[in-house]
Amino acid sequence: MQCEFCGEPSLTGRYDRVAGLDVCATCRSTGVLKHLRARGYEAAARNWTTRDPETNNRTFHVQTDITLPVDSGLTLRCVKERWYHHISRLFRSELEVGDPIFDDHIYVAEGTSAAVADLLSHEGIQSAILLVGAGGSFVLEGPTLVAHSQSRVGLSAEEIRGQIQEVAAAAIHIVGWHARR
Ligand SMILES: [Zn+2]
Repeated sequence: MQCEFCGEPSLTGRYDRVAGLDVCATCRSTGVLKHLRARGYEAAARNWTTRDPETNNRTFHVQTDITLPVDSGLTLRCVKERWYHHISRLFRSELEVGDPIFDDHIYVAEGTSAAVADLLSHEGIQSAILLVGAGGSFVLEGPTLVAHSQSRVGLSAEEIRGQIQEVAAAAIHIVGWHARR
C-alpha cells in the first residue's frame, strides 16, 4: 500500500482517508502541495484574517489555488447554499447530485452539464466542496481550481493543512476523472 500523495509507504503503517484517498502520516503532518507540484500541478495555498470594521468580528480565510496538468473542459462554480438560492429555484431547475447532504448544502451556480453531474457524483469531490463552509466557494474553470473557505472561528495549523489536503485530493480526482473519459 502507498500514500496517494507522495507515493511512499507510510512509515507508521497507518493511513488516513482524505476525500477518498489514502494518505500517509508524513503527508498528513507536513502538507501535500509539494507532491502535486512534483506531478506537474501548480499549487499554492494561503490563509489570512479579515475584520469587520463595524462589528469587529473576525473572519478566517483559507484559499488553495491549483492549476491541473490537464484542462478539465468544465466550468463549475459551487457556493454554500443560501436562502436566496431557494428563491431562485422557483425560477429554474438546478443540478442536484443525489446525496442529500450535498444537495442541502451546496448550490451549483454554474456548470449544469452532464459532465459536471458525472464529476460531482464522486464522493471525493463532494467532500472537498462541502468543506468550503459558509460563504466559501469551490470554482473549477478548465485547468484552474480555486477553493476558498471562510470561518468565524480560528483554525489550527492542522485544520488549515487538512482543508488544503481535501482540495488537493479533489484535484487528483478531477485529473483521474478526466483521464477515464
Ligand atoms: Zn504521503
